[in-house]
Amino acid sequence: MKCGPGRPCTGGRGRAEEGAPKSYRRCKPCGGKAVIHMPQHRLALCRACYPPWFEKQTQRTIERFHMFGKTDRILVAVSGGKDSLGLWHALLQLGYVADGLYIHLRIQGSDGLAYSQRSLEFARAYADRSGRELIVVDLQETMGFGIPEIQRAVHRPACSPCGTTKRHYMNKVAVERGYDGLATGHNLDDEAATLFSNTLRWDMDYLARQTPVLPAAEGFARKVKPFCFFSEKETALYAVLEGVPYIREECPFALGATSLEHKDVINRLEHESPGTKRAFLANFLSAKDRLPAPAPPAMKPCRECGSPSPVEVCAFCRLRAATLARGSGLALTQVGARSVEGQGAVVCQVKT
Ligand code: SF4
Ligand SMILES: [Zn+2]
Ligand SMILES: [Zn+2]
Repeated sequence: MKCGPGRPCTGGRGRAEEGAPKSYRRCKPCGGKAVIHMPQHRLALCRACYPPWFEKQTQRTIERFHMFGKTDRILVAVSGGKDSLGLWHALLQLGYVADGLYIHLRIQGSDGLAYSQRSLEFARAYADRSGRELIVVDLQETMGFGIPEIQRAVHRPACSPCGTTKRHYMNKVAVERGYDGLATGHNLDDEAATLFSNTLRWDMDYLARQTPVLPAAEGFARKVKPFCFFSEKETALYAVLEGVPYIREECPFALGATSLEHKDVINRLEHESPGTKRAFLANFLSAKDRLPAPAPPAMKPCRECGSPSPVEVCAFCRLRAATLARGSGLALTQVGARSVEGQGAVVCQVKT
């Protein structure tokens, strides 16, 4: 229908679709009723066409960044949430060999009940359904305490010691068990918020390490983020349409986190100008490709645990010592917040 007297100009078919109520949108490949509209891709898809499209995009990201191949063994760090369980599922659907790793943080929910335990049950349910192995590292069993005790000992927001602890065990398990890659469910919202935070502080060390692939190095597993170009909404829809149950509640320590404020700012920009979020990350990655790679920090085995560390005792062992010292009434040692494996002081950027 052409615009004219009495007919408001829609600016062409595409614009008319964007502005139309959802029920008027049609799936581009099949013409069925669309369940998602992605203006950044100029694409609407129905419930049948969306999962194959999502998996194809995942495969594209894996290939574009040379993440891993079909004969590699991949360890997926799972938290029981939509991103990590969706990632595990997508990799298996694509024919990859992937097991799960759950780190039991021993965090209580806002209702006082065991948040971490409930998350574990979702991870276990998916492992049972897929027939793949789920490795569980229980902090209470391995260290004698969980994240709440560490947080009280170091007097810092929980996410900082939690990130250090998760990175330590994710890397340790992947290296010791000989996996070819460690995959995390970081999505576009996570990556854009991290980039925003690192850019605000011009933290060159963290910016240099923000990448969808961190290659393996002596004592370090290869780390990959196949979902880095999907928004939270897209990963959630994939999990729902594929019938992958996941925990809906947030970690209680995430409330009030700076990363959520950053996500909010970026989402407002995205709302005004669809595609901003993706372009922010994609353009950063291509600009970074044109710069010389920074020299990796010199590493030596940690005196306590043997993991690679730029200093004599690694950040994880300092955290553990500080928590043990608090428990035994000894003076606390200074615990550094930064980790060479981290990507910035942004909350829950170390997904499991
Ligand atoms: S929000 Fe994430 S990083 Fe922070 S304490 Fe919870 S699980 Fe750990
Ligand atoms: Zn369709
Ligand atoms: Zn150590």
